[in-house]
Amino acid sequence: MIIKFWGVRGSIPCPGPHTVNYGGNTACIEVRLENPDRLIILDAGSGIRELGNHLVARGACKNGLKADIFLTHTHWDHINGFPFFTPLYIPGTQITVHGPIAMENDSLEKIVGGQLTYYYFPVQETDLAAKIDYRELKEGHYDFGDGLTLEVQYLNHPLLCLGYRFSFQGKILCTGYDTEPFRNIFCTDPSDPAYDPAMAKEGELAARQENERIQTFFKDADLLIHDAQYTLEEYQAAKIGWGHTAVETAIENGLKSQVKRLALFHHEPVRTDQALDELTQTFFPSDSHPEMDIFFAREGMEIHM
Ligand SMILES: [Zn+2]
Ligand SMILES: [Zn+2]
Repeated sequence: MIIKFWGVRGSIPCPGPHTVNYGGNTACIEVRLENPDRLIILDAGSGIRELGNHLVARGACKNGLKADIFLTHTHWDHINGFPFFTPLYIPGTQITVHGPIAMENDSLEKIVGGQLTYYYFPVQETDLAAKIDYRELKEGHYDFGDGLTLEVQYLNHPLLCLGYRFSFQGKILCTGYDTEPFRNIFCTDPSDPAYDPAMAKEGELAARQENERIQTFFKDADLLIHDAQYTLEEYQAAKIGWGHTAVETAIENGLKSQVKRLALFHHEPVRTDQALDELTQTFFPSDSHPEMDIFFAREGMEIHM
């Protein structure tokens, strides 16, 4: 597998002089399989625009581009580049968009393709040259042929969000974003009139089991791409319930799951290049974890495994 990051930010694109090294585009990762050649794209944040231009420039659309796009969820930063993916305008392109099953009335097609409507965009989805199919995924196991399999796991985010575990030719790629640790939803303060010791204990156990389930899902991955939007201090001060993980917790998860490489991902938009370098020095200076390669994902970074 060859993995290339085209967008590593969370929330909103943030180009500018302070995000040149790590990049300002939102979530998009290219996964290329060889023998047979297959193109998989994880998320369609603003980074997918450059990926599309790159594919056109290297002639990948000449004989009809085929690609599978896997959306982790449909928050804006993960789909806002979709209408700007140039291959959609080229005849012969065939795209399958996989994503979470809609728990409410709207389908995946309506949520993603709905960006291409009069109010938001000048081109309608029906006017695109590409053939686009939508496939809704639930928790479970999927076989995509050519030896490519996928496990899907629900993560902990305000909207249904899928964790992916791809296996191909003995290599494992996992995604763990957007998510935050499960926590006890019952009152844990004995001085609070709502406190019930049995419920508090049950809530503690349920949260621990869910977190262990996620760690098992990531087990032994060759590469885990994990949410690391905040520091623990930022998370605990004001971000609990927002659906993102602290750098320290992401590292702990990677270590517990014994993954080989941990890409910290979904960077907070205010995080400058300098700030990310400082966080690297603070939380994982070189050789701090010889058993696991840890880094902040960077636009343009390519990993061969
Ligand atoms: Zn996001
Ligand atoms: Zn999200």
